[in-house]
Amino acid sequence: MNKVQNARRHFLKTAGSVVAVIPLVAVSTWAAAAKNPAMRTSLKYQDKPNADQKCSNCSQFVPGKNPKALGGCQLIAGDDEISPEGYCIAWMKKA
Ligand code: SF4
Repeated sequence: MNKVQNARRHFLKTAGSVVAVIPLVAVSTWAAAAKNPAMRTSLKYQDKPNADQKCSNCSQFVPGKNPKALGGCQLIAGDDEISPEGYCIAWMKKA
């Protein structure tokens, strides 16, 4: 086997590895949407408002892409599925 064949073989092996990794990166990005059940439970989070108290008018809410989209909460780390219509016992009126 000459040098050109060796280089070609090495390139194909490397390229094959890179192609194999791409779906794993895509899946891990897709799986990034997450909940934090422990914090939700400790703060008694619910997906519905408590009268006029809801995440969208709470100072801790991190809005999603639009007013109806799921967002985050500064008190519930790693959770990006907080409903703007949700509520928990840590609710604090947005200034
Ligand atoms: Fe919603 Fe509670 Fe977070 Fe406020 S503190 S945004 S009410 S989960």
